[in-house]
Amino acid sequence: MSEMRAIVRQGAAVRLQRMPVPVPDAGEVLIQVRVAGLSRTDVDPPADGPEPDPDPVVLGREFTGVIAELAGDVRGFAAGDRVAVMPDLPCLSCERCAGGATECCPRAERLGAGRHGAFSEFVAVPAHVVHRLPEALTFREGAYAEPVCSALAVLKADIKPPDRGLVQGAGRVARLTERVLRSYGFDSVEVGASLAGLPRDAYDFVVECDPGGPALDGMLRVVRPGGRIVLRSRPAGPVPVDLAAAVGKEVTLQTVSYGTFQAALEFLAQESGKIADLLGCVRPLEDFAEMFSAERESQRFKSFFCPDFGGVGAAEIEAWGRLVRPDSGDQR
Ligand SMILES: [Zn+2]
Repeated sequence: MSEMRAIVRQGAAVRLQRMPVPVPDAGEVLIQVRVAGLSRTDVDPPADGPEPDPDPVVLGREFTGVIAELAGDVRGFAAGDRVAVMPDLPCLSCERCAGGATECCPRAERLGAGRHGAFSEFVAVPAHVVHRLPEALTFREGAYAEPVCSALAVLKADIKPPDRGLVQGAGRVARLTERVLRSYGFDSVEVGASLAGLPRDAYDFVVECDPGGPALDGMLRVVRPGGRIVLRSRPAGPVPVDLAAAVGKEVTLQTVSYGTFQAALEFLAQESGKIADLLGCVRPLEDFAEMFSAERESQRFKSFFCPDFGGVGAAEIEAWGRLVRPDSGDQR
């Protein structure tokens, strides 16, 4: 097979088209994509992303699959291995990478943006970002590892149980962050989309999870003097901060981006039952337009593509979790 179907972005246009099947370079593996999660970044490119490419770029960051082919110099994997992939490809030469924080490399190349992603039948990636998918995880669960890796970043903030916390946000990211905090012993954590009506100075920390941009004034009001605001989103533009309020209360603003991808897979293998309700339907690539517009309207559930929907078959997809057939409408 020399061609495959892929969802691509070219300028502002997104479409399904045929693309060449990639050939793995030295150090790379070719992965047959089983499940790929739709993220906000696929729908609306981030402000800090690379300049739009004049050529079509295959979208899709969060995925699992099976190794189809390996470059001759790749060791430690074999064709047929079930794998998950960290979609930010670190430079391996900067200070963060040298310190082991490769997930936080500021020069990382992004799958689905600077480089072809996983909304396609095959994708080629460097072997150093490939992780074995734990046996306990389905392809659909494993495709949620990147959001978990991002949620685990809250544990890098200087907070500890029994601190009282508030996770600010309405969507699945806020709910996932709350589950992560609870599983690490934070018993006093609430989730709230709106901060209006919440008591002043009530929380030791507030975690911001609103991709629409942080409601910093409200967070500064509800966090206690000397407390901490943990910032996770990457808003499209500058965000105003009431510095007088922040300084007056000596509030610490702390940013975090990623935990480790391996820890995310281990968290999922242990706790997948606790996040199952955040995972939505699996659908074929052909349904992309409907899925993109649904994601714009609501980020309540993670939805997924299965590029080989017909080949994998309904029975196996059903076994992964909720199956929504193309003709059954939007049941997210
Ligand atoms: Zn680096």
